[in-house]
Amino acid sequence: MQGKLLYNEPLAQYTSWQVGGPARCLYKPVDQEDLAEFLRKLPPNEPLLWLGYGSNTLVRDGGFPGTVILLKGTLNQIRLLSDTAMQAGAGVGCARLARFAADAGLIGTEFLAGIPGTVGGALALNAGANGGNIWELVTEVTTIDRNGMQHQRNPQDYTIAYRQVSGPENEWFVSATLNLKPGSSTEAKERISNYLARRAATQPIGQSSAGSTFRNPSNGVEIQRLICTVANPCGRQPW
Ligand SMILES: Cc1cc2nc3c(=O)[nH]c(=O)nc-3n(C[C@H](O)[C@H](O)[C@H](O)COP(=O)(O)OP(=O)(O)OC[C@H]3O[C@@H](n4cnc5c(N)ncnc54)[C@H](O)[C@@H]3O)c2cc1C
Repeated sequence: MQGKLLYNEPLAQYTSWQVGGPARCLYKPVDQEDLAEFLRKLPPNEPLLWLGYGSNTLVRDGGFPGTVILLKGTLNQIRLLSDTAMQAGAGVGCARLARFAADAGLIGTEFLAGIPGTVGGALALNAGANGGNIWELVTEVTTIDRNGMQHQRNPQDYTIAYRQVSGPENEWFVSATLNLKPGSSTEAKERISNYLARRAATQPIGQSSAGSTFRNPSNGVEIQRLICTVANPCGRQPW
């Protein structure tokens, strides 16, 4: 094993809430093979927690009594597969993915630019913004199980809902293949800039949080509009 193995590692530094006690053990693999080898050697009942950027994870003060697999800064390759397909490792940051696609003149991932998570975390939660959700782009994912075995899965293997995904048990994402459209790189970059500017103007970026606390209702109304209307019924709306 060539990865980084840490014992009794405080998790606060790995989450956007910046709170949480220690993990009994934390492993950051160097690549997929190394990850497979590590998983094969784990006791079969070892509790596992996968972490990307930790931007949707709240760790309790008591910490995690098992092993954390950290993908931040690893499994972070992006490959163009064709004029319309791209493969990204689970540790790729959503922002980097969006910029890479825009640079390559591929359209569809711009909404990911402001989401402060990894592809793995985005797949686990069907992350989305500005009307887009990551699973709408996915044609195939590669997963790994507790024995280090790799599996090719497609969206039909999962139940995908608003910020919720369930699928084969005891498998975790190592990469995803996305289907995109060829288009204008300049326009894609402009959309990214606009999305980021809107976020910067409306969200307390940089403060400890996990983003939204409320879910959008199913009638298409954005929750932030409802909250502002309730909090400020007669006032001018901020948009
Ligand atoms: C300021 C801010 C703004 C945000 N804005 C948005 C937004 O616009 N839209 C949105 O959808 N979310 C948003 N979020 C929430 C968060 O960024 C997303 O949910 C993101 O997808 C989480 O990715 P992550 O890598 O940080 O996941 P983590 O927090 O590390 O993990 C989240 C969950 O995914 C699991 N997981 C992580 N990696 C894997 C893997 N490889 N395989 C299987 N499971 C895995 C973890 O075990 C955990 O259960 C925001 C958060 C913040 C702090």
